[in-house]
Amino acid sequence: MECRTVARELTIEGTGIHRGEKTALRLMPGTRGIVFIRGGRRIRATPSNVVDTRLNTAIGEGSVLVSTIEHLMSSLYGAGITDCEIEVSGEEVPMLDGSALPFVRLLEEAGTSPVGRQCAPIQVPSVFRSQRGDAWIEARPGPFSLTYEIDFPDPAIGAQRYRFNGGDYAAEIAPARTFGRIQDVEGMQGAGLALGGGLHNAVVVDGCRVLNPEGFRFPDECVRHKVLDALGDLWLLGVPLVAEIRAFKASHTLHVDLTRQIFEAMTEERQR
Ligand SMILES: [Zn+2]
Repeated sequence: MECRTVARELTIEGTGIHRGEKTALRLMPGTRGIVFIRGGRRIRATPSNVVDTRLNTAIGEGSVLVSTIEHLMSSLYGAGITDCEIEVSGEEVPMLDGSALPFVRLLEEAGTSPVGRQCAPIQVPSVFRSQRGDAWIEARPGPFSLTYEIDFPDPAIGAQRYRFNGGDYAAEIAPARTFGRIQDVEGMQGAGLALGGGLHNAVVVDGCRVLNPEGFRFPDECVRHKVLDALGDLWLLGVPLVAEIRAFKASHTLHVDLTRQIFEAMTEERQR
């Protein structure tokens, strides 16, 4: 496939979910992969630059950090953008409505253009797997598919499974919002996190109930959001991953660990 970038510069503003601060993003055409720029410092979006995966995916170098990059990364996957310079005014990428849809709309408006280089997809030669307790993610040789399963004690979420075959990302995946359980949200806010979070940028459930008056966008919105997150984390590879990917109750930590394993194996392969 051809490597592509944004056809023109775009800007978007919003609030970060954890610190609750206003931030602006500027996306500019580029030719050197996906690069975040903060305070003049350049940080390449690669698995080796990930510094935190506890509640979001954050990249950094030295003291410079850019957090919550996953939904933007996922929308770049959806648009097939492999090259882009992304300037951020604050530490967090804006949360917008908690999904990737606002980014997708913006990227559709701007369009993409080829950068004059080929981006060969990665085909895994063997099984890669990352596991913690009963949660896992793996990539096996085969055509692309991403099958995700979650299982929550809250009846409002429960057990959900979704298989994405690389079809219509904008319709199937991008609208799915971040979700949380009310007890976790209260715990995070007590710890000074999720300060910018609320029903405007997340679906919050309390046992059987969905607290958002509008309810879910899809009956299986939660598992679709996990697919959205995984596609964003896997896009740290810089090119499409062609593999049969399966995940069970996984998280950013496991997604990024799998991505890092594949990235390192491919780097070794190239050096041989
Ligand atoms: Zn997410």
